[in-house]
Amino acid sequence: MQKIFLECRECNATYRPDFKYVCDSCFGPLDVKYTNKFSTKLFKTRSANTYWKYFELLPILDKSNIISIGSGLTPLIKATKLGEKLGLYNLYIKNDSVNTTFSFKDRPAGVAVSKAKEFNLSTVGCASTGNLASATAAHAAKGGLKCLIFAPKNIEQPKITQAISYGAEYIAIDGTYDDSNRIAAQIGDKHKIGIVNINMRPYYTEGSKTLAFEVADQLGWKVPDQLIIPVGSGAMLNSICKGFEELENVSLLGDTSNIHVTAAQPRGCAPIVNAFKEHRTEIIPIEHPDTIAKSLAIGDPGDGRYVIKRLSQYNGYADDCNNEEIIDSIILLAKTEGIFTEPAGGVSISILRKMVENKMIDKYDQTICFITGNGLKSPESLFDIIPKPKIAQPSIEKILSIMR
Ligand SMILES: *Cc1c(COP(=O)(O)O)cnc(C)c1O
Ligand SMILES: [Zn+2]
Repeated sequence: MQKIFLECRECNATYRPDFKYVCDSCFGPLDVKYTNKFSTKLFKTRSANTYWKYFELLPILDKSNIISIGSGLTPLIKATKLGEKLGLYNLYIKNDSVNTTFSFKDRPAGVAVSKAKEFNLSTVGCASTGNLASATAAHAAKGGLKCLIFAPKNIEQPKITQAISYGAEYIAIDGTYDDSNRIAAQIGDKHKIGIVNINMRPYYTEGSKTLAFEVADQLGWKVPDQLIIPVGSGAMLNSICKGFEELENVSLLGDTSNIHVTAAQPRGCAPIVNAFKEHRTEIIPIEHPDTIAKSLAIGDPGDGRYVIKRLSQYNGYADDCNNEEIIDSIILLAKTEGIFTEPAGGVSISILRKMVENKMIDKYDQTICFITGNGLKSPESLFDIIPKPKIAQPSIEKILSIMR
């Protein structure tokens, strides 16, 4: 029996699990479905320290094709100090800022590059807003595949420095993320390159599901009440929902239909929030994204309309925040919980704070706020904000005279 097959998200046509990403009859996106029977006890008893703990619900057929750099099983922190500030008793931070390449993108990239190996491809690539570049490049390095990065020429310097260090080739596009995406799609199809977030997308998105698996696992196989998720293309939010659905299907979780899912976006690029607030199902693209949350600067989000669907399925909400609020929230999280995040994480915290202000979260709700990237990846946004140090002569009297 095959472990998996592909199914069209629009018309439900089914396909063999090949190197394929759109439906032949309606051009809809394809999703991976699982047919394997396995003992769910495995997930409760297996000791592991990567997200491959959940192998039975990941789309790799042969374990020998797994390329792992040790990602996943990141901490779920009970945010007691931030919770106290906000009046929440059960606030948790899913801290993916400490993943191997310092963002959650190790999950989708790791699964997609492993699948590329399973398909015997020699080259992978991606279109990236920054973090996916490093995650793809690192897994390609470990697996011995070549890696091409297509990204706007203005992506954050630490992110591109990191990606190139893993040996990837960076093609800097004089344009937006959407331009990079279009070019990567054409080159990928023409040269049989596994572009992880485009022609490998059915497999890529499976990786992010492990965020749902880990949260459920870390809560002792309990269903949370609130999920606050930063959104760019929308793939991660959609995958997290798919993950909870699958856990319910295999009876590892009870009823998941009462989960409240919130999409968080930065104001300068919030096409999904705009659609949600205007009760539209179609997304109007943002042509020139303008935000410090560069990893969320996707003007034409591939999974945008599916995020809207998920929000209506899961008692959802969507909101945006400005640059000032993002920076304020980065600092609040760092000062209360000791976690330093990049602007995308500041977006999740800002929306959490707005929801608390608007009394949308009960103080006892099990609330999970997803922190998806590390602050060291984009320090620029803070350079002008943090106080300049006082320079002191190396003498005790001088130092005591200026200390707070
Ligand atoms: C890519 C990214 C996101 C958004 O994920 P999508 O699947 O594009 O919605 C959120 N946070 C960080 C840090 C990212 O790199
Ligand atoms: Zn179809």
